Amino acid sequence: MCLNHDEIKQNPSHFEESQANIISSNTEFSNYKDLIADMKFFDPHIHMTSRTTDDYQALADAGVVAIIEPAFWLGQPRTGLATFKDYYSSLVGWERFRSSQFGIKHYCTIGLNSREANNEALAEQVMEILPLYLMKEGVVGVGEIGFDDQTAAEEKYYRLQLELAKEMSLPVQVHTPHRDKKKGTERSMAIALEHGIDPKMVIIDHNNEETVKSVLDQGFYAAFTIYPFTKMGNERMVEVVKQYGSERIMINSAADWGISDPLAIPKTAALMKLKGISDEDIRLVTYQNAIDAFAQSGQINVADFEEPVVIDQTQKFNGNTILRGGQQPRIDKDAIVIR
Ligand SMILES: [Zn+2]
Repeated sequence: MCLNHDEIKQNPSHFEESQANIISSNTEFSNYKDLIADMKFFDPHIHMTSRTTDDYQALADAGVVAIIEPAFWLGQPRTGLATFKDYYSSLVGWERFRSSQFGIKHYCTIGLNSREANNEALAEQVMEILPLYLMKEGVVGVGEIGFDDQTAAEEKYYRLQLELAKEMSLPVQVHTPHRDKKKGTERSMAIALEHGIDPKMVIIDHNNEETVKSVLDQGFYAAFTIYPFTKMGNERMVEVVKQYGSERIMINSAADWGISDPLAIPKTAALMKLKGISDEDIRLVTYQNAIDAFAQSGQINVADFEEPVVIDQTQKFNGNTILRGGQQPRIDKDAIVIR
């Protein structure tokens, strides 16, 4: 839910630029996993609802141990409150279960996205149900919220949700617009401060070289989305970390239903390693800083993903399983029950 109007007919996801220059493969990283064999990663922004079990398996194989799935725009406007409810329920229910079947700890943030804030009649109803979902287990913040087109309605619901976050002592995950990014980012931060929110409780997302300094100087967390086939590729990210260090900086894939790369974090970690960034700085921007930011919700227990995870794909969620007829479930060798 993060795009230009003129791109809407094509691929309105998190991507701001034309994908005309798509290349087929990136041979430079054919063995990138060797560089990061001992590392583990936390992706604080990925929309797994839109992804496949292959993606979950690839994330697990690349060392991603935990993720946050922000509530977002699904690609077409929802027509009623019931579909918001079902979506939020899936983020705290089925999707979390699906993730667990690949040994990945799943958290989410819940919020009314900026784009659908413009449907005020529906937005009013969504505001009513948000507190119920924000209180659920594994919800680590209000998000992703903020500006898209920078309309009055977007500002109204951004402010209301900031108040909700404050009331519930939850971190805020802020989506910044791709049009007029600098202005939208400054406005998002100024409004959060106006509401008396501690900048340490706010993760400003989708930064670039133009916004990062001000975000860090004002005490906010600065998140960067690694976009394939656009300007904010991971080579630029390496330069950002070289220039600004690793404090309060985190990276994410923001992978969704558009062209995106769920492995953006492991790949960027490998590139950072190649480019001489220290293991500790890599750990901070690909793992620890996101945990520190969102653990302020009181909902993250690192033992849930730092200790060995037992995977049992015979498990069910409300009677449903990720297995299809005849498939053999994966059961870890060290599970107590033998079947
Ligand atoms: Zn997103």
